Order: sequence, then C-alpha cells, then structure tokens
Amino acid sequence: MSENNLQVLLRRRPQGEPLAEDFEIVERPVPLPGRGQVLLRNRFLSLDPYMRGRMSDAKSYAKPVDLGAVMEGATVGEVVASDDPSFAPGDTVMGGQGWQRFCVVDGGRLRRVDVNEAPLSANLGVLGMPGLTAWVGLEDIGEPKPGETVVISAASGAVGQVAGQIAKARGCRVIGIAGGAAKCAFVKDELGFDACLDHRADLDTQLDAACPKGVDVYWENVGGHVQAAVFPRLRDFGRMVMCGMISQYNIAPGADAAGAPQGPNLGPIVRKRLRIQGFIVSDSGWQRYGQFRAVMLGLIRSGQLKWREDVVEGLEDAPRAFMGLLKGENFGKLVIKIN
Ligand code: NDP
Repeated sequence: MSENNLQVLLRRRPQGEPLAEDFEIVERPVPLPGRGQVLLRNRFLSLDPYMRGRMSDAKSYAKPVDLGAVMEGATVGEVVASDDPSFAPGDTVMGGQGWQRFCVVDGGRLRRVDVNEAPLSANLGVLGMPGLTAWVGLEDIGEPKPGETVVISAASGAVGQVAGQIAKARGCRVIGIAGGAAKCAFVKDELGFDACLDHRADLDTQLDAACPKGVDVYWENVGGHVQAAVFPRLRDFGRMVMCGMISQYNIAPGADAAGAPQGPNLGPIVRKRLRIQGFIVSDSGWQRYGQFRAVMLGLIRSGQLKWREDVVEGLEDAPRAFMGLLKGENFGKLVIKIN
C-alpha cells in the first residue's frame, strides 16, 4: 500500500493537565493482518475522558498505555484486508483500536455495523460505549421510576445526553447540569430535558428552584462543586450513579488535595438509606450490547433520542481536542474524523 499509517503515540506521562508535548505524531508503514486478523481503515476515532487514566501509570481497573505506544481509543471504519472469514474488504465495523489511521485487530473483537441504521460516527457515541454506559448505569443502579426527579451532570456530553433522554422516556422529571448558556439551551430545548442548570452560576439557588422536593437519582459525571451541591438534596432511598468525576482526573491520586474541590459531607448516606455505586461499562455492558442497541434504535425511530456530536477533522488535532475535553471545551460527543 502506498499510503502511510498516521499514529498518535503517548510520549510522556502527564503531570496534571495533559500537554501537547505528552503526545507524538508519527508516520509508519501500514501493518499487515496476521492469522485471524483484519486490517481496518479508521474513519472516526472516539475521544473519551477515560483516556486520561490510560496516560497515567497509577493503579486502575485497566492497564495504562505504554510510553511510545499508540494511544488507546475506539474507532469505526472499513475492512481493507482480512484473514478472518467473517469479514471481507468493504465491510463497515466498530471495535477498531487506537489513535491511528489504520489498525490491525483480531476479527473476534469487531462488530459489523449496519450503515443504514445510523450515521457511522453514532456507533462511537449514542450507539457506542458512552450510550451503553448510560443505559447500563440506569438499568443496574439508577433504576429511575416514573415521576421521580433525575439530575444529570455533564448533561450535554456523550453519556449525559443519553442518560437524560432514557430517564425522560421512562417518565421521569429530568434536570440537566452543564457549563454555560449554550449547552444548557441545547439540553433543554433540543434534548427535551425539563430544565438545565448552569454550574458556572449559583447552583444551589438553581437546584432549590428546579428540585424543590429533592433528587431521587443523581447521575454523577463530574464530582467537585457539582457533586457538593446535588448530594445533600438526595431524598430518602435516593440513588447516586457514580459514572465518573472528570473534574478530578488531572489530580494525581494521593496528591495533596489543596486546591482540589471540596467534597460533600457523606454522613447522610446512612440516615437517608442512599445507594451510591460505581460501575465500569465493560463489567457487563458489552455482553448486553444487542439488547442495548435494540432499545436505542427503538428510541431513535420514535424520535425520543437525539444527540449532538462535536466532530474535529484530522487525527493531527486529536491531542488538542482531547486536552479541551478535560476542560469542558467539547459540545456533545467528541469524535475525530480521520481524513
Ligand atoms: P463528555 O462528553 O460529557 O465531556 C466531558 C464534559 O465534562 C465536558 O464537556 C464538561 O461539560 C465536563 N467537564 C470537563 N472538565 C470538567 C471539569 N474540570 N469540571 C467540571 N466539568 C468538567 O464526556 P463523557 O460523556 O464521555 O463522560 C462523562 C463522564 O462519564 C466522565 O466522567 C467519564 O469518565 C465517565 N464515563 C464513565 C464510564 C464508566 O464505565 N463508568 C464510561 C464512559 C464515561 P460542561 O461544560 O457541561 O461542564
């Protein structure tokens, strides 16, 4: 093949916020698929907050990316060559890997994608890992019931927009929290949440007005001052779905917490019989992917599920876009269109 592979490598482990120098962009020959493997041309790359964890070698639920290795990330694209009889050149698949234009993957790790069901990039968002996260977290932990009040942080983002719309479809009153007027307007007017509160303004006053009877389910995506404001408002038997706390991802574990956002007083967990549970989508999510996809496609067809993507053109721009994600600069599910 005359074309080269373009790759983004992890050059250095960030201390605090990732910097451009933590990444390296290289051109290399296109790899050949080995036995049972498939060569993909990636069309879209998903950028997700969990990648900050993979850049660190602190103990975690997943192995870090090695220094000098290609940054980890899900992709969708087409099969170019295949040594797996289940896939042929031209097939469209999800499950590709890495911040790179081409990748070689074991065929068993790929899922064929029907391009007539939804736009290709949606397989990385609403129909991909973030959407699956929203569905699993509500099924297993949030368990929203009709009439309950559900609060979703990072509501305009990849996970938040889906979680809120699923809760809405289940008959809940859904209040989003997002950063800035444009994101709040989108969440309320386009996604159909009942309200959306701006966490850059006085959140306590806004929560008092939007949730006068308290909160039954809090979907936690950010931590910090947002968590501190919502947590005391959880009602008896409330559920807190601990999906992520992005405001803390640039703080080293065990580091001096000076300057870190003040957390809430967790004492009322017992008195209110709260359920606070963390989860990782890969625990059981992908085994239920078929069921999830059927539910999502049903909601899309009935017009109950909308989504917004933030599409950045060019793999070379992936480090900058990722750094922006950790500061709230993305508006919707962040994906890279690989040219
Ligand atoms: P988003 O698309 O929501 O993008 C991140 C958003 O978080 C930003 O747009 C911004 O929204 C907000 N944000 C970013 N930095 C900060 C900060 N320093 N303080 C406060 N808010 C910030 O990301 P995802 O939907 O992909 O992920 C949302 C959360 O879900 C993350 O915590 C992620 O780690 C977690 N997650 C967990 C999974 C699991 O299996 N448990 C799987 C997938 C995601 P705004 O401008 O509105 O503040």
